This record gives sequence, C-alpha cells and structure tokens, in this order.
Amino acid sequence: MLKCRDVTELTTEYMEGALPPARWLAVRFHFAICGMCRAYLGQMRRTRDLLGRIQLPLEPGVEDRVVARLAGQPPAG
Ligand SMILES: [Zn+2]
Repeated sequence: MLKCRDVTELTTEYMEGALPPARWLAVRFHFAICGMCRAYLGQMRRTRDLLGRIQLPLEPGVEDRVVARLAGQPPAG
C-alpha cells in the first residue's frame, strides 16, 4: 500500500505515463481513496498546463540572468 509521500513523489511520472502498469495502478488506486493526493494531482496538472502556455524562447538575456541569480552571482553586464 502506497503512502501519500510515495504518491506525491510518483505524481509526475504518473501524469507522464512513465510508471510500470502495476505501479500506475497502485497510484491510481491511491488517488481514488485519498482526497489530499487527488488535490495535489489537480494542482500539478494546473501547474503543468500553465507552464505549457509559456512561450519559448524567452526574451534574450533572461535565461542568463535567471541562471546567474540561481548561482548567487551578479548578472554580467
Ligand atoms: Zn494520499
């Protein structure tokens, strides 16, 4: 029996259809009985839909600035 923590870790693979059938079924069953994980799945799906609407490529330089920010360095230029 999967625990909620297991299911949240497997949610992305579940959405992508990347789980083996038995694993998928176990996760699917958990979603059927657990409202909390169902809500989490809904949230993940909405997030994915939003991300899917972002147009790439971003404007020039944005990616460099984001990477610099994540690396904790001041942006060049
Ligand atoms: Zn759960």
